Amino acid sequence: IAVQISIAAMRHNLAHIRSTLHHQVAPLGRPAPFIWAVIKANAYGHGIDQAVKGFAQADGLALLDINEAIRCRELGWTKPIMLLEGFFSIEDLAVLDEYTLTTVIHHWEQITWLKQAPRLRRPVAVMAKLNTGMNRLGFAPEQFERAYQALLELQQEGVISSLGKMTHFARADDDPSITYQQLLCFNTVTGALPGAISVCNSAGTLTASLQQHLPDHTEQWVRPGVCLYGASPFAAVSAHELGLQPAQTLMAEIISVRDIAAHQGVGYGHHFISPKPMRLGVVACGYADGYPRHAPSGTPIMVDGQLTRLVGRVSMDMLMVDLTDITSAQVGSQVVLWGQNGPSVDEVAQAAGTIGYELLCAVAARVPRQII
Ligand code: PLP
Repeated sequence: IAVQISIAAMRHNLAHIRSTLHHQVAPLGRPAPFIWAVIKANAYGHGIDQAVKGFAQADGLALLDINEAIRCRELGWTKPIMLLEGFFSIEDLAVLDEYTLTTVIHHWEQITWLKQAPRLRRPVAVMAKLNTGMNRLGFAPEQFERAYQALLELQQEGVISSLGKMTHFARADDDPSITYQQLLCFNTVTGALPGAISVCNSAGTLTASLQQHLPDHTEQWVRPGVCLYGASPFAAVSAHELGLQPAQTLMAEIISVRDIAAHQGVGYGHHFISPKPMRLGVVACGYADGYPRHAPSGTPIMVDGQLTRLVGRVSMDMLMVDLTDITSAQVGSQVVLWGQNGPSVDEVAQAAGTIGYELLCAVAARVPRQII
């Protein structure tokens, strides 16, 4: 078993998103937005080291974990790094200062900590977050201006360097009307306040029409995540149709082959009963490797370059596939669970009742990484 991480695919996806953005904004007479590549959760399971290489052309990196941010600096990343949840205590400010990290500010305590902070070596870059309907992080619309004024004062005092405005979409992947409501709220509340803006995740970035609803003459930073790894944020549009390449490929081998008669139960709980005589292969990959246990019989799997299906329940270290029509398959045959030359991670996720994001970041630490 191995998980292959393609730096080339990551580079391709970033370049593709950049050119997509260029084509969206050029007719509006605007320069292309800057790109924060979102690399939280160990770069959606691809590894911080790989992300720093694959997204070398990004304008910044965005993540949550201060230790991952430090790792980026240790790897030589000199462009901005943004902490999407900001900092969690006054002590964290010294780390922000030491590693020159940009921070999101989304609640009053963070402003208080900035005011109380011992002298920083350099002023800190800040993005103030407005809650426009996600109801997760961010100042309420009626509080935002007061918070922003406080931050502008800190900017004048030299505590803050650059100051910008951001929000996050709850349904950019499936409901444009909610997204437009969020944008309207963002524009109404922040329109008169100075500073760069950042609103678009992958789905927002890939929805060309959103750009028409954003202010002209304002520096814009987008924050795509999942699309940079070659997965689609939309249920109804595949990553392939979006021109993206899978950066993560989970593969394993057939370790046993068996012929069974008709009407035999397969695996735990006998969730699959053979309708006819069948040939089955046992694949050395299970839920302890990160393959979803909820994937039902019928979930697509590639064996020896041919598409077949999962049969029976996924076990901890193994799963079974239908080899009845794949005559070439034998012990040692290569299996692609998802990724390049296999089903997409989104197809497997959809079958298992989850999203590609979850599968990408859940490949277990025991699975060897192959960087290509
Ligand atoms: N911005 C913020 C604040 C996020 O939390 C995330 C991730 O969920 C992203 C951007 C990137 O989202 P996506 O992976 O859907 O592009």
